[in-house]
Amino acid sequence: MTNAIASTRLTVLLPAGRLPLAIMAKAYELAKKYQLEIYLSTLQNLRLMGIREEDLPVIRGELAALGAQFKGPGRFPVPRVCIGVRDCTMGVGDPERISALILDHFKGREKTKQKLKIAISGCTLSCSGAATSDIGIMATRKGFDLYVGGKGGPSPRVGRRILRDLDEQGVVAAVAELVEFHDAHTESKQRMVKLINHPEFPYKEAV
Ligand code: SF4
Repeated sequence: MTNAIASTRLTVLLPAGRLPLAIMAKAYELAKKYQLEIYLSTLQNLRLMGIREEDLPVIRGELAALGAQFKGPGRFPVPRVCIGVRDCTMGVGDPERISALILDHFKGREKTKQKLKIAISGCTLSCSGAATSDIGIMATRKGFDLYVGGKGGPSPRVGRRILRDLDEQGVVAAVAELVEFHDAHTESKQRMVKLINHPEFPYKEAV
């Protein structure tokens, strides 16, 4: 018989992978005080691990007081981004800006069905995995290309390019249409790859 102590975790969402200094300082303070591990997740969020159940409300409250938002069922997914044009010599677009526009558009959304991942890259090299995400946005010299239906996992897939040369507003409008399509054709959770051949899917391959 083991004496394992039940513990839980708390994931702080970090839009565009940016870590505000106040949250970094608070996470450090909490990790020291409660002897927690800090894990930087593959979706670029900050996870505190090893939290005792009874400490969770206080830890959550202290971070929330600084404006932290937390991962949880139904939350709109924070796009994964690469560093983009400001800090990469290959970059031609700014993923942080596109991420902010998308999150602003969806900020009032109450519930988003799961298994929907969004990634944005500042060029076609796709370092953030835009080609292998449910919705992928890739900057090019002519604007943004949009991919749908990529995924990782045991059967990885490259997404289908459905739109080319979009401007920023065009990206947001297309993402909104895809999110609504996913919502309307999904019971609880589903990858986009399962929907791209649906007879009502609104886009064909863009060559
Ligand atoms: S996708 Fe392009 S812009 Fe983004 S980090 Fe990779 S090389 Fe740089």
